[in-house]
Amino acid sequence: MKYHTHLIIGATAGIIIASHTGQFIPLFAIIGGVAGVMPDMDIYADKAHIAAHRGAWSHSLLASVIAAALSFIPLYYFGYGMFSVYVSLTVFSAFFLHAIADTLTYSGTYLLYPLSKWRYKGFVKYNNPVANALLILLCLALLILLTPLRDYLGIGF
Ligand SMILES: [Zn+2]
Repeated sequence: MKYHTHLIIGATAGIIIASHTGQFIPLFAIIGGVAGVMPDMDIYADKAHIAAHRGAWSHSLLASVIAAALSFIPLYYFGYGMFSVYVSLTVFSAFFLHAIADTLTYSGTYLLYPLSKWRYKGFVKYNNPVANALLILLCLALLILLTPLRDYLGIGF
């Protein structure tokens, strides 16, 4: 999917996690947004012929766990306690949702690597405007349903 779609998906994950854990929502929106676009930094590794774009090392369960651990360990070490847990949960969610979103594309991802070596593939090009717009609308719907935004909008249930 497109860069801004991954950014919005990651930020959405961060906002939802922050709103349910009492964390500072704008900070977690940024953490989620940054983590959401990180897997595509592998494009530079691909250009340098180091590793293929959308490979298992950047777009997979394994990559998501490693990214979460890399964010958790230093924060926890320096005494940030539960904040470290929420940050690593946001990083994991943003990374894994990135890999899930990219399974919609022709090239797909090794989503469940190393549990499965299957390459999950979809049926659209990464920049398909309808697929990208639907994912962004889904994020908007989740933000309304799962965050205090529903109270501001007066949707009570
Ligand atoms: Zn990607």
